[in-house]
Amino acid sequence: MNLLSVSNPADDSLIERLPIDEPARVAQRVAEARRAQGPWALRPLSERAQIIAGFAQSVRAQLPALAQVLTRETGKPLAHSSNELNGFLGRIDFFLAHAEQAMAGEQVFDADGMREQIERVPLGVIGNISAWNYPWFVGGNVFVPALLMGNAVVYKPSEFAPRTGLEMARLLHAAGVPDDVFVVLIGFGATGQALLEQPLDGVFFTGSLATGQRIAQAMGPRMVKLQLELGGKDPTYVCADADPVAAAQSLADGAMYNAGQSCCSVERLYVHEAVYERFVEAVVETVRGFKMGDPMAQDTYLGPLTRAAQIEVLQAQVADARSRGGRVLTGGARATGPFAGKGNWFEATVIDRADPSMALMRDESFGPIVGIEKVASDEQAIARMNDTAYGLTAGVYTPDEQRARRIGAQIRAGSLYWNCCDRVSPRLPWSGWGHSGVGLTLSREGISTFTRPKAWHLRKA
Ligand code: NAD
Repeated sequence: MNLLSVSNPADDSLIERLPIDEPARVAQRVAEARRAQGPWALRPLSERAQIIAGFAQSVRAQLPALAQVLTRETGKPLAHSSNELNGFLGRIDFFLAHAEQAMAGEQVFDADGMREQIERVPLGVIGNISAWNYPWFVGGNVFVPALLMGNAVVYKPSEFAPRTGLEMARLLHAAGVPDDVFVVLIGFGATGQALLEQPLDGVFFTGSLATGQRIAQAMGPRMVKLQLELGGKDPTYVCADADPVAAAQSLADGAMYNAGQSCCSVERLYVHEAVYERFVEAVVETVRGFKMGDPMAQDTYLGPLTRAAQIEVLQAQVADARSRGGRVLTGGARATGPFAGKGNWFEATVIDRADPSMALMRDESFGPIVGIEKVASDEQAIARMNDTAYGLTAGVYTPDEQRARRIGAQIRAGSLYWNCCDRVSPRLPWSGWGHSGVGLTLSREGISTFTRPKAWHLRKA
């Protein structure tokens, strides 16, 4: 039997070994989900909603233990794991409040004996392949509304957060979701690939652009609904009239929270020359104040990177930036960390005098690092912000809302922030433009995306 070894990125200690779901088992589990989906969809929405509400209650009751599980396998500081779980509960409240409306049919015509109606029906069996950086958020954005809408979900958590996936299943099943209606598959990319080869009615993926492209290529000829939530290289512009210190404090957090391992982390900063020096000074001061430490400690802000391999990516970005005239103001290297050199630790890093030729300003960093470039005008900032194939989020700091809206309107991104950053709301659609993805989750549309419309043309005989 092949095993998946899960280790703690803070100190490299082995947590557990889990049996990998091989292709034959994947096929069997999807077939079981197919048989279970029909009866699940036939149950009234109110019953499914009650089950999900019960699940939320258990998550709330067991939140401290669930936060520890997440922190142990991903290295996410405990306070950030708790924040994620609390945020997840808020999202469930939103889904529950809007599920009925998302499923509601509509009569759109009634005249001369002819009626036209739109019915919303579940997609069927969906595959959800997920990332490790916010598994409760990105997994929950899919499985909660999908289950509410009457789908069966086959969930492949990241190989870096499999226990969290198993905990989701344990709590969903205990709350009343049938075992075959929510199925977890354990494994690496090959298990995800085996899942994609099964007859599915929808594929919802969160992860890197490279994997997303592979999945899009594999699914293209299959004519199956496909949503991809991918990476970002999110920019923010600090205008000449912004308060440089307040902006710096907010954006330092936006860049370093969860060690910069957020799809909407602030990765590129463009700062007007009028406030540049003060801004840079304040960013460095704020970043130096972030406490690195044992992720299990409540007061730790900076934990390790989840993936060891990302350290080399960051080192290469620092070296490339240095060689092109970038100035490393703080950090810039692997950190010893609190466990005598064990684990995947990297210093919080700020590099200014950045320019668009640097990998630091082009490729997703996904780590505690941010590049800063000085700009001379709003127009130059807009051009720089749009100089990317990605388009997840972007921000503008200025006291002037009109200015922020004028600039924001010209930016190609799914979400625009004014004087805030690194923020996701269940009430708003979460979508990427360009290489940041296809489709959306969250908002009312992100619930009905797990249904399809059926058009009824009804004439009385
Ligand atoms: P990844 O692409 O390495 O892996 C994601 C998932 O895909 C994992 O479960 C993995 O096992 C699986 N996988 C790998 N190869 C596969 C294949 N050939 N077929 C099927 N499945 C396969 O990404 P990651 O490191 O887990 O996540 C980090 C990335 O996710 C970053 O780029 C980040 O920006 C992005 N992300 C995006 C959002 C968003 O909402 N847009 C949210 C979170 C993370």
